[in-house]
Amino acid sequence: MSFASPDSSDVTLPAFADRLARLAEQAGVSGADVILIAPGPDLEYFIGHSVASHERLTCLVVPAAGEPALLVPTLERLGWAGTPAESLGLPITTWTDGEDPYLALAGLLPSDARVLSVDYHMPAVHALNAQAIVPGSELTLAGEAIAELRMRKGTDEVEALAAAGAAIDRVQRRIGEWLKAGRTENDVAADIAAAIVAEGHARPDFVIVGSGPNGASPHHEASDRVIEPGDVVVIDIGGPMPSGYFSDCTRTYVVAPTADEPIGAKVQEVYDVVRRAQAAGVAAVRPGVTAESIDAASRTVIDQAGYGEYFITRTGHGIGLEVHEHPYMVAGNTTVLEPGMAFSVEPGIYLPGAFGVRIEDIVVVGTDGPVLMNTAPTILTIVGADGARV
Ligand code: ZN
Ligand code: ZN
Repeated sequence: MSFASPDSSDVTLPAFADRLARLAEQAGVSGADVILIAPGPDLEYFIGHSVASHERLTCLVVPAAGEPALLVPTLERLGWAGTPAESLGLPITTWTDGEDPYLALAGLLPSDARVLSVDYHMPAVHALNAQAIVPGSELTLAGEAIAELRMRKGTDEVEALAAAGAAIDRVQRRIGEWLKAGRTENDVAADIAAAIVAEGHARPDFVIVGSGPNGASPHHEASDRVIEPGDVVVIDIGGPMPSGYFSDCTRTYVVAPTADEPIGAKVQEVYDVVRRAQAAGVAAVRPGVTAESIDAASRTVIDQAGYGEYFITRTGHGIGLEVHEHPYMVAGNTTVLEPGMAFSVEPGIYLPGAFGVRIEDIVVVGTDGPVLMNTAPTILTIVGADGARV
């Protein structure tokens, strides 16, 4: 996934300083001597700016004890001028083409560092070369230590997610403008992608238009299949706002049912099961319950209706500066939910060769229950027919 550096002007410098201090604490808790962070959403989260990741090493160095520092290629140093990283007073060290960037990195590590912990986005070439420059060192993953911070959203982050939810809801409410029999999935997806930007996103990140049997593949994107009267169509769309925070919302539609191709009893039955499952997952959200209990709440409804074998995904994923991040609503995840955690609740039923149904909202854990970031109606919506419910 490409990473466009968002505008972090909504986050104050003390917030970044606090995040860096807490990351150093997490390094200690997780047994790391130093955490190394590559370009991507983690870098954005901790110092308010990022760049494209490539073969030249850019690395934020956060020791468990000691001051953080940033290493960047000399040719990119000017690009960091005026960013929060500079305003924070973070020492920015450069290395120039022809020099060994890993020697430069070694100079920024605590002299006794032996456990080097890298973020999920660190390219293997940089992680393994960093380990090789420190004899006897051990390489670990810092993703879970970082998630301890990122998965508890602050008020400003929840506001950013709410703005993203409202923007994608506006697109979902307009689907009837584009989703019509006789058009291809690609035609519809192109119009939706333009609307995602028109309604306030920085860019579309994914546009799933899964019509008829294509809807049974949860990550189908869009194809040249021509949409037919009576098709069930899964529309799962989202992208980052200028704040960097993502939207992600799914609704399932029926296109232009006719006397010849009415909404079948099976479609209505499956839809109603998914809608009840999604509502049950949302209703189960509150502080103190586990992530896996949200999955169980949705899955039980689908299991009891006899469609368990066709619910082939986890129930949800965390969301923030990435569209998929911790915490995951999946069996085995005993993470206890706390206020400020944000994730999707998106059960589905996928019938191979026939159709799929998914309903997805983003939910934030409130002090005593769920706070929905999406408010587009979840009732089965008919588009492209006379008297369509849109
Ligand atoms: Zn999702
Ligand atoms: Zn989605």
